[in-house]
Amino acid sequence: MKEKVLLEFKDWIKSQDNHISILWKRHAAAYIRVSTDKQTELSPISQLKEIYKYAIHNELYLDLNYIFIEEEGISAKDSKLEKRTEFNKMIALSKSKDKLFDEIIVWKFSRFARSQEQSILFKNLLRKEYNIDVKSVSEPIIDGPFGGLIERIIEWFDEYYLINLSQEVTRGMTEGAHEGKYQSVAPFGYRWDNHKLIIKEDESEIIKLIYNKFINDDMTMMELARYINSLGFRTKRGGKFENRTINYIILNPVYKGYTRWTPNGKLKREELYNNNRSIITKGNFEPIVDEETWEKAVNKLENYRSYRKPHQTDSQNPWSWIKGLIRCKKCGKTLIRTNGKLRCNGYNKGACNCSDSLDIDEVKSLILEQIKQYYNNPINIKIDKKRNNNENNNEKDILIKQLEFIEVKIERIKNSYIDGIDTLEEYKSNKKILSEEKKELLNQLNKINSIKEDNPKLIIKEHLQNAYTILTDESISMEKKFTVVHTLINKVEYNNGELFLLFNEIK
Ligand SMILES: [Zn+2]
Repeated sequence: MKEKVLLEFKDWIKSQDNHISILWKRHAAAYIRVSTDKQTELSPISQLKEIYKYAIHNELYLDLNYIFIEEEGISAKDSKLEKRTEFNKMIALSKSKDKLFDEIIVWKFSRFARSQEQSILFKNLLRKEYNIDVKSVSEPIIDGPFGGLIERIIEWFDEYYLINLSQEVTRGMTEGAHEGKYQSVAPFGYRWDNHKLIIKEDESEIIKLIYNKFINDDMTMMELARYINSLGFRTKRGGKFENRTINYIILNPVYKGYTRWTPNGKLKREELYNNNRSIITKGNFEPIVDEETWEKAVNKLENYRSYRKPHQTDSQNPWSWIKGLIRCKKCGKTLIRTNGKLRCNGYNKGACNCSDSLDIDEVKSLILEQIKQYYNNPINIKIDKKRNNNENNNEKDILIKQLEFIEVKIERIKNSYIDGIDTLEEYKSNKKILSEEKKELLNQLNKINSIKEDNPKLIIKEHLQNAYTILTDESISMEKKFTVVHTLINKVEYNNGELFLLFNEIK
């Protein structure tokens, strides 16, 4: 249907002698949907013509690429939004980084969304989030003092609507919680089937194993995580098991057949076992472990926690300039100090198999050694280009963006000529303007490029020499050393006994 309407529309445009210019600053999209109430309905082509006239009148360039026509038979009232494919496409394009259109024009707001409320909701979201206005051909908002007032009222209404909506949802969920309904993504060990939480056989075996091994085999949470990972299981989110995953599982009452729901958001780790905010109710689904097993595991976990000393933080004390610098190549996690040695924090959490323990002093002298080698021979220096806050480069980025935009405009005027919207003369004169803009931008870009062609590696060489002197000087504070190293070095990757230095770009 859409193609037919568009063809007819293009023919019709040719018969109009409106002046439209591709160089108009604001671009518009059109959204068209036929209501099921045929009595008061305009056909898609008539809606499109009205939208077009409105666009011309308001100096908006209606881009033929962004005309969205919903297939007939999709009624707004009964159908879910997901079924409105053209609407979803339009919203998706609205979020696009390169702004494709500034306004969406509809014949009536009621064609835009299912209800007046939803129409206002989407309208305001699009404006606030993406700076795109939704305009209705037949319900224009009045400009002038009252226009602003009406906008304000709409916004108040919008806010009221959102507050009400969330209260409504919270009330519904609290009721559900008291009835023992599980109201979230199915937890590991379960799946949703026809609105019922059903045990997932293979995963439920893992849950049983966690409780049993934790109680009977004295396996720590880290060992359990590593074991489950080695069996090839992944969490619901597709990640590896860590000790906190195991901790979370053991303390989750869902596994003894209870629901836990907390009205105001997420629970902190120490609140998982006991807090007075959560509503815990016997659920309407099968448990995986019996209550006795669950209690045993939880008690053991809580006892374990009570005699364990609180974790000490090093943040106040920069114990060494290599703190936070070295990362495990296998998993990307930082190597942290564990029992006086450096070890992959991924391994500590059970998510990585890199179990190497490195001597801190040895690592320091290896890094110093490499710094020395690099400033003697800067050829092999690896620079991380991503970290780049240079002003010239900002300007360069902007110029490149503008150039890309000019290319898009050139493409558009070409299409308008091909589509018969612009005459050959219009096309030629538009193209001339754009070509000149493009030439000017290219000139500026060349200027910037010629300024900074110094070899960044040679700049780093000096900094390296400096850093080496500072790091090997006993009288200089650890804080100063820390700053110098972290400014210069992006990260040090550790892999199988080898260290790789990656430097920041410095100007
Ligand atoms: Zn690792």
